[in-house]
Amino acid sequence: MNDDIAKVLYHESTILSRLDELAHLITEDYSDKEFTVISILNGSFIFMADLLRRIQLPLQVDCWSVSSYHGAKSSGSINFRQHEVADVSGRHVLLLDDILDSGLTLSTIKSKLMNEKNAKSVKSWVLLCKNITRKAEVEADYVGFKIDNEFVVGYGLDYNQQYRNLSYIGVLKEELYKK
Ligand code: 5GP
Ligand code: MG
Repeated sequence: MNDDIAKVLYHESTILSRLDELAHLITEDYSDKEFTVISILNGSFIFMADLLRRIQLPLQVDCWSVSSYHGAKSSGSINFRQHEVADVSGRHVLLLDDILDSGLTLSTIKSKLMNEKNAKSVKSWVLLCKNITRKAEVEADYVGFKIDNEFVVGYGLDYNQQYRNLSYIGVLKEELYKK
């Protein structure tokens, strides 16, 4: 697995220190709010576990299984593999996603939660944010790290369902996905 990585961007210890900082911010911002964390699967399962254990507040959690990527390219449409999600009507929602790229996933989910599920507010937390022009007008409220437009894997992020169990985030060697 490690041989397939062109370069390591963030080691586990760097990721965890950043999660300490962000959990502190979230703890301050949500101390007086009833809120539900909705984590977008599969990519965010590892950092969800690490982040949530750092937040010292009562909260509810649910996961939403969604996909948009095939291989190393966005399919351009969002596939909801699961149709029901926790009742968030009148509650503040904090969305967790692994990476903000075109913005289609986050904007689709945000508007669904606001318009169909009647959430009181929806803020989003992404571990990584790609520095590109987005297809959908959306930005994240909390960002772990800003990265260049490279295809990354590890710490939950996959290429065709592999590499999610790498402890760090790295750039996948181009020859493995570009033919
Ligand atoms: P968006 O809808 O913003 O284009 O893409 C969001 C989703 O695409 C992410 O949740 C993630 O699953 C996938 N994605 C985007 N860029 C990358 C990347 O560099 N590596 C991996 N592994 N997935 C990515
Ligand atoms: Mg994802």
